[in-house]
Amino acid sequence: MLPFKLVYSDGYYLPIGAHVFPAEKYRRVHDRLLSTGIAGPEDFLDPQPALDEDILLVHSPAYVHKLKTGTLSPREEMQLEVPFSPELVSAFWLAAGGSILAAQRALTDRVCVNIGGGFHHAFPDHGEGFCMIHDVAVAIRRMQRDGKIRTAMTVDCDVHHGNGTAAIFPGARARQRPLPSVSRATLSAAHTQPSAGPYSGDVFTVSLHQFNNYPPIKPPSSIDVDLPDGTGDDDYLGWLDNALSSGLRQFEPDLICYIAGADPYREDQLGGLALTIEGLKKRDELVFRVARARNIPVMVTYAGGYARNVEDTVTIHCNTVIAAKEVFASPG
Ligand SMILES: [Zn+2]
Repeated sequence: MLPFKLVYSDGYYLPIGAHVFPAEKYRRVHDRLLSTGIAGPEDFLDPQPALDEDILLVHSPAYVHKLKTGTLSPREEMQLEVPFSPELVSAFWLAAGGSILAAQRALTDRVCVNIGGGFHHAFPDHGEGFCMIHDVAVAIRRMQRDGKIRTAMTVDCDVHHGNGTAAIFPGARARQRPLPSVSRATLSAAHTQPSAGPYSGDVFTVSLHQFNNYPPIKPPSSIDVDLPDGTGDDDYLGWLDNALSSGLRQFEPDLICYIAGADPYREDQLGGLALTIEGLKKRDELVFRVARARNIPVMVTYAGGYARNVEDTVTIHCNTVIAAKEVFASPG
């Protein structure tokens, strides 16, 4: 039995047909974790879909209305890069519910892994890059609304820049927003009322990504590490260590949201970094060690992974669970 919970549903499957995004990866990770004995059935929690009021903590009423009524424009659907369907909307609401549950459990169990989510290219008013709803942002805003956390830090290790995250949480770099409130009205107003002042936002965003890759426009995160093409394990781990140390010197999060993309892998079809499977596991261990040493709860989501061999993507995602088990089960 694991010393933490995994959040998973068969409903995470994205009904997008033949696509570079391996929508079956979630089920395959779930099945592999069970068949190899890394996890047992009792380790899994079954998420409920997020409520519309949770989604609206991050996304605009107009966008949510378009999703619920199937009235995205052709251009908006093209930008999403996955075919729209009501079933797809349900899958994203469920992923957001999974991330909310994972955040709640992380706060009591120190760590929790959502075997899904990490849709970091979704913006308040539109989706792009396979991401319809920003499940991580929804989870953060819900935890803040419930008064369970005041601050959070996103640590985005997907090969692609977290543009949606940076757009949703712009306050922690050089601009100030009103402090978060339990009032939803104040939270939505905060999105549009930046003012001057350093590092006083409530969510600090860290993104390590390949610079020469999607998205072409990268709104600034609190810390952006623009990695050159072909960056390998040692350089990557050094930069990650630096970014975590620097971020945690500047900011004290009540929760770390780790976006554990599998696509910095050297065999990835949409990535141009050169990490090995072993290097990616060390990456996971580093994030978990830092979180544990500082006693900061960490919730994990999976984001991208487009390895030529989908089994490699499954291995990388399973290794994230193994790394968490090794770090959080060890004494001390
Ligand atoms: Zn990605």
